[in-house]
Amino acid sequence: MKAHGKAIKRTVIVPMLICIGAVFMSCMLACPAHAYENIVIVIDPGHGGPGMEGETDSGARYNGVMEKDVDLITAMALVEELSQYGNLTVYMTRTEDVHMELQDRVDFAKSVNADYLISIHYNASVHHRFYGSEIFTSAFGEEYAKGVSLAQTIMSWWVEDGAVSKGVKTRIGKKGDYYGIIRMGREAGIPTIILEHGYLDIDSDFAKYGTEDAWRHMGVLDATAIADYFGVKKGVVQANVEAKLTVPVPTGRVDDDQTPPENVSVTIDHYDPATRVLKYTVSATEPDSALLYYDLNTQTLAEDEDNGFMKMSVWENGAESMQGTYTVPDGYNGAFVARVYNNYEKFTDTEPITIPAEFLPKEDNADTDAVPGDPSHIGGDGTAITSMPQVTLQDGSGATWTLEGALAEAKGAAGLIVDHDGINETGKKHYAGMIIAIVVAVSMLVAAIAMAVVTSSRSKRKRRRPDRYDRYIK
Ligand SMILES: [Zn+2]
Repeated sequence: MKAHGKAIKRTVIVPMLICIGAVFMSCMLACPAHAYENIVIVIDPGHGGPGMEGETDSGARYNGVMEKDVDLITAMALVEELSQYGNLTVYMTRTEDVHMELQDRVDFAKSVNADYLISIHYNASVHHRFYGSEIFTSAFGEEYAKGVSLAQTIMSWWVEDGAVSKGVKTRIGKKGDYYGIIRMGREAGIPTIILEHGYLDIDSDFAKYGTEDAWRHMGVLDATAIADYFGVKKGVVQANVEAKLTVPVPTGRVDDDQTPPENVSVTIDHYDPATRVLKYTVSATEPDSALLYYDLNTQTLAEDEDNGFMKMSVWENGAESMQGTYTVPDGYNGAFVARVYNNYEKFTDTEPITIPAEFLPKEDNADTDAVPGDPSHIGGDGTAITSMPQVTLQDGSGATWTLEGALAEAKGAAGLIVDHDGINETGKKHYAGMIIAIVVAVSMLVAAIAMAVVTSSRSKRKRRRPDRYDRYIK
C-alpha cells in the first residue's frame, strides 16, 4: 500500500513540477520585464518647425489650427501632469516650434534610456469623412506587447471620456512598421506608440478636439492613463511599480487587416415620400478586425470619391446589423448602395438597391402637379410670391395634397391661365380670379384634411405592416 501510495505521489508531483516549470519558463521567455523602480518616458510632440522649411511639417492644417501647435499644447499639459507622479522620469523631444527629424527624436529617447516613447498627434483624412481616435504600435516582438498594453489602457480612458475608438493597431509598410518613428523606435529597442487623438478636419471631432482647453484636457487625460498603466501614484515614490502588461510577445509579425468587411447587405425598411427620409438596415461581418462605420449613398463610388454620403454612423461594437436613416438627395434616380468600413478604413459596398414599390405613392392617386417646394409666381404686380405655405397632406391611400397644387387647380377652374410650372402668364388683370382661387383652394384644403383624417384612421391598421414599423419604434 505504501509503495503504491508513493508511486501515485511521484506520478502526480513530477509532472506537476514539470508543468509549473514549463509555465514559469515560457512566461519568462514570453512576458517582457515589467517591474520598475523608475520608468523613463519620452513624450514626443509630433511635427514642428517655423518658417518656410518648417511649414512642410506642420501636420494637419484645418479650421485655422496647425497640428504641430496642437500636439505641443497637449504634450506640455501631459508632461506637466505626469511629472507629478512618483517612479517616473519624463522628457520631451521638443518644447518649442522647431523642426526635428524622426531619427533625432528616437536618438534622443535612446540617449536618456527611454522605456517608452509616446508620440502625440491629431488626425485628418483625405476626404474629411473619418472621425474617432486611434493608436498605432509596432507589429513586432516586445515592442508590440508593451506598446499594445499601454495603448489599450490609454484607449480605455479615451473611450470613457467619450471618444469613438478606431482601435489600437499595427500598420505594415515596405520596411516593416509603416510609421517611421515606430520602426526606428523598435530598432532602438524602445516601445513606441503614436496617439492620434481625433480629427481636426471634421466638425464632429473638431467640436470635441478643437479648443485649447480640449488640447490640454487630452494631455492630462493621457498622463492619467499612462500613470494608471504603470501603477504609479501622484507625489508618492513606491519601492517598485509594475506595468499592466496584458498582451504576450507575439511569435511573428502582427498584421493589420488587409481585407474589407464581408457579407455586406442592406434592406430598405421604410420610405416617407413627404420627408424623403428612408430607413434601412445594413448587415455585415468582419472576422479579422472590427466594423467601424456604415453609410448609404446613391451611387457606387471609388475609394477616392465621397459624393453623396451623409456623415458616417458608428457601427455598434459587436453588432450584427445596424439601422440608419438617409435623406434621399435631389436628382435621385434609381439605386442606393450601403457602405461598411472596418477600423482599418477598408470598406465594402452592397449591390445597388431601390426603394420598394410598396413605399412609393400610388401612381393613380398622385397629383403630379403638386410638387412640394415649387415656387409659384402669381403676384398681380409681377412680384414673385416665394413664401407659399408648404402644406403637404398625405391621406391613407398614399395620395399627396399640397396647398400649392390645390391652388393651381383652383386657378385653372377660375379661368386663370396657369402654365405647367404654376406661373400665371397673364399677370396683372386677375385679382378677382385670384381671390376666387384662394377661396376655392382653402375649401379644398379643408376637404383634404377631413379626408386624410377619415381615411387614415380607417386604413392605417390594414395598410401598415407592423413588423416593419415596429422595428423602429423599439
Ligand atoms: Zn501628426
